[in-house]
Amino acid sequence: MLSQRWLCLVILTICAGSCCVRRADAWSWFEAKLEGDSPSFVYQVPDAADIAVLRPKGQRQQNCTNGLNSTAPSLTEREQLSKALAQRQCQYANLQHLKEENDWKNDLVLFMIPTGFRRALPRVVLSWLRNYVACMAVYFGVSGAWAYYVYWVFGYCLYGPGNMPSTSDVFEQAWVAVGSIPGYAVLPALTEAVVEAGWTRAYARIGNVGVWWHLANFAVYMLCVEFAVYWMHRLLHDIRVGYRWLHYIHHKYNKEGSLSPFAGLAFHPLDGIIQALPYCVLLLVLPMHFLTHELMLFMTGIWTTNIHDCLHARIVPIMGAGYHTIHHTTYQHNYGHYFIYMDRFFNTLEDPDEFSSKQKAL
Ligand SMILES: [Zn+2]
Ligand SMILES: [Zn+2]
Repeated sequence: MLSQRWLCLVILTICAGSCCVRRADAWSWFEAKLEGDSPSFVYQVPDAADIAVLRPKGQRQQNCTNGLNSTAPSLTEREQLSKALAQRQCQYANLQHLKEENDWKNDLVLFMIPTGFRRALPRVVLSWLRNYVACMAVYFGVSGAWAYYVYWVFGYCLYGPGNMPSTSDVFEQAWVAVGSIPGYAVLPALTEAVVEAGWTRAYARIGNVGVWWHLANFAVYMLCVEFAVYWMHRLLHDIRVGYRWLHYIHHKYNKEGSLSPFAGLAFHPLDGIIQALPYCVLLLVLPMHFLTHELMLFMTGIWTTNIHDCLHARIVPIMGAGYHTIHHTTYQHNYGHYFIYMDRFFNTLEDPDEFSSKQKAL
């Protein structure tokens, strides 16, 4: 575990160090991108052979055995084939756009790696590296900025005496997160490979479905995510083995004075993956804009920073830090993700104000 963390730090240091060297290359690429000279992957456009494949199996055999004109399609069949062909071309175009977009993200985030070397790496490795670098940047950027403001700048008026975490707690949480982020990055990398293989219902352009369908897709997707994340989290508590071997690492910090924004990603790597799994698995069954999916996944990293600062903002129905602090102290309430609805529906909601009144009454 220790060597894994050092390896991660070394990779990040190399990447950060290379930034200065490769900066010029990155900008020239970005300018080329703006001019439309972007690298692209070209799929084979379906030809006559594809048309033959597109024919239903029974019809193909029938055409081969009728002895007359076995290859010429009838008028009705021609219409069906052209529809199927158009559909297939849309799928090709969608996958091509997804690949181009992923290349663009690789070039944007990994610009410090020489282009030739970058192109030679397997796509899944590039994707993992990009997600790893981005996750580290988001984690330290957001948690660092958050901690600076809530503790150092406004800490004197936001926290009572003894309610701020100790430096050793903060460092320990950051250390756990640094060891787990390489594991977290595996999930989006594998998801991207599955998406590029065309096994999901992810689409590259909002224009593919239209704005209203996109918004409807987004709403259904996030509703399902809320449901699934709630149950993943709850099961990690209810199944003893899951709690003891995976989720306990995060719940080690169970006092108000020990939680900090850096606890946001302090999970066992498998625990983090399990809780993020709904975001990825749902792509197999629900249509969803891929970039929005990725942004929402990274948004989780930002969100989780917010809910570990122990500051109750009273913004109903958002599942803020007030609710999540109770989750850390009672273990059986407030399992939800962004909203409190799932906890209310499944009767596990504990309101921070009511909870504090009960505590005072004791
Ligand atoms: Zn928990
Ligand atoms: Zn937590």
